[in-house]
Amino acid sequence: MPHRTIHLFRKGLRLHDNPTLLAALESSEVVYPVYILDRKFLMSAMNMGTLRWHFLLQSLEDLQRNLTKLGSCLLVIQGEYELVLRDHIKKWNITQVTLDAEIEPFYKEMERTIQVLGREMGFDVLSFRGHTGLLLFRILDMNGGTPPLTYKRFLHILSVLGDPDMPVRNLTTEDFQRCKPAPELHLAECYRVPLPEDLEIPRDSESPWRGGETEGLQRLEQHLKNQGWIANFTKPKTIPNSLLPSTTGLSPYFSLGCLSVRSFFYRLSNIYAQSKNHSLPPVSLQGQLLWREFFYTVASATPNFTKMAGNPICLQINWYQDAERLHKWRMAQTGFPWIDAIMTQLHQEGWIHHLARHAVACFLTRGDLWISWEEGMKVFEEMLLDADYSINAGNWMWLSASAFFHQYTRIFCPVRFGKRTDPEGQYIRKYLPVLTNFPSKYIYEPWTAPEEAQKQAGCIIGQDYPLPMLNHKEASDHNLQLMKQVREEQYGTAQLTRGKINSKRTHTHANRLMRDHAN
Ligand code: FAD
Repeated sequence: MPHRTIHLFRKGLRLHDNPTLLAALESSEVVYPVYILDRKFLMSAMNMGTLRWHFLLQSLEDLQRNLTKLGSCLLVIQGEYELVLRDHIKKWNITQVTLDAEIEPFYKEMERTIQVLGREMGFDVLSFRGHTGLLLFRILDMNGGTPPLTYKRFLHILSVLGDPDMPVRNLTTEDFQRCKPAPELHLAECYRVPLPEDLEIPRDSESPWRGGETEGLQRLEQHLKNQGWIANFTKPKTIPNSLLPSTTGLSPYFSLGCLSVRSFFYRLSNIYAQSKNHSLPPVSLQGQLLWREFFYTVASATPNFTKMAGNPICLQINWYQDAERLHKWRMAQTGFPWIDAIMTQLHQEGWIHHLARHAVACFLTRGDLWISWEEGMKVFEEMLLDADYSINAGNWMWLSASAFFHQYTRIFCPVRFGKRTDPEGQYIRKYLPVLTNFPSKYIYEPWTAPEEAQKQAGCIIGQDYPLPMLNHKEASDHNLQLMKQVREEQYGTAQLTRGKINSKRTHTHANRLMRDHAN
């Protein structure tokens, strides 16, 4: 008997390479494409900030438009997800709920609740992995049920397993025509995508990123035209302070599943196949997608992955609790223009370059402030358009040298790091207009400018822009001693994410980054 199905969108907000939606259409006589806008759940599970709300609503609008083009429509239902489901399962005589399988504990919990509901109310639950972790379970199996804790080991397992499955076919008007709900229900009018003001979300957003599959695909196609750039992409050579992204800038689209990681992976493979030489993991573009898979794999099988306490791969560090200093970092008031410009870009646009993330994460944690990576992760979670449970926590542990990363003796300098790729400080001038008129000589250390130069620049340091909140040399030397001590005391944990045999390629990448930007 064909099913009457609710397809529940959570992340995979797209129509291309959507295996779960395809399975829903192939097994049903009626499909209701639904997004449950459960604000309480979204806020408690993900702490979404304003920019991310805009991005989500734009992505839903886009999905709505694309479904309409295929003769269907997206039904956005506001309310608590369990109640909404109970209600509509009865109302529409539903026999099946389909949804992408996810790895985050809060989504897994939701899946469990739906399974229980299914048993109680008599409907089937069908889920496939569409978002990521394309080979996740096979990787875990091959590694004896535990996650590989180094990228090198991860790549080795992948080399044995081979490539992920191919993307599934595109959905057509015929697919939806066969599964159309009765028109007299007037569903499109009843369940439209809310406007930001309906949800009391401030309207203005300066972010240059517009949500949705259509925008994501346009950006992706634009990059793919530049085959030479794709083939030679080398992450450490990209520039953290360019005024336009020097990397793909696709992460917000992957984060909500507006783009399929798997499709991108194969498009890259095709370009590599046509080029004589191409870069390799960890620095290549495909290597970046594999970092993503790596963190997903580790997160999926590590308890308390987003916390220090109870997290078996994470060093247990007695970080300082200093709300005032944390606030200065968060609000771009550290007095170090390079750090403050990055945090301003984060606030205004919701995206910053990977190395810019390195700079501010190192500064907050082991570099200068000795404040817990969990605090930084929470700020990123709220502000980043691409905020992601596994990748965010994984990278914060990395940068704070709590796990994965072992070159802890090299600390990024908040003055020299940015200067190397932007000696004139154009990036700082853009994001900190108060410093615009400073001569380039002082733009990274405006407190060293003579009083006359400050007056001429129209900005007195300590009055119009803060003095540096600390002495970087003293703070970083002190923190380094603390870190040495922690690592000696917790030698076992410190070794846990270190490959037994050094990976030349992985370490070359890390070494080069650190050599270029260290003290
Ligand atoms: P590209 O360089 O064009 O890479 C293509 C894709 O590969 C990215 O879109 C992303 O999906 C993936 N990728 C790239 N670098 C990494 C990486 N280091 N780890 C895992 N996946 C990667 N990325 C997120 O998507 N969400 C986060 O919440 C997040 N938090 C981070 C926190 C810190 C402290 C740091 C240092 C990095 C974080 N990253 C996060 C990883 C990385 O900075 C971003 O994925 C990348 O900068 C996004 O820009 P892009 O799309 O231009 O990347």
